[in-house]
Amino acid sequence: MFVQCHSKKPGHWGAGKTWAMLNQYYPGHGMPFARVQTLVAECAHCQKYRISDGGLVIPPKRTVLQPPDPWNTVSLDGVPISPADIHGNNHVHISKEMGSNVINLYAASAKTEAAAADAIFTHRAVFGPFTYLQSDPGSDYTRGGPGQ
Ligand SMILES: [Zn+2]
Repeated sequence: MFVQCHSKKPGHWGAGKTWAMLNQYYPGHGMPFARVQTLVAECAHCQKYRISDGGLVIPPKRTVLQPPDPWNTVSLDGVPISPADIHGNNHVHISKEMGSNVINLYAASAKTEAAAADAIFTHRAVFGPFTYLQSDPGSDYTRGGPGQ
């Protein structure tokens, strides 16, 4: 009877709603409200997921690394765009100075290592030299590309 009213799908209600459902589906059940509160507090599913969820979650540690100067580190990524422009460029390479948040967009016909190298060269020509280059750990740029 308690299980039918407490943990029926989607279930695991609090004591108040479980008590109300007991009264609705089993009128005259004779179970005191304090007993319903105790059974809800002893429900293993409720203990794990509903009642004691308050302080158990460890907050993620966020670390924001600041480069030593605004022009030290540049990140690079490529994003497909649609539709292609009149020159057939359907990708854009985004290079960003991590310290100053200056962004350069470089349109290309594909997300290849050669186009990424052109994007980095354009970035250097416009904004000057930098020390570090960050990119995704995927294989788009590591097949023998801008690092060479
Ligand atoms: Zn429960």
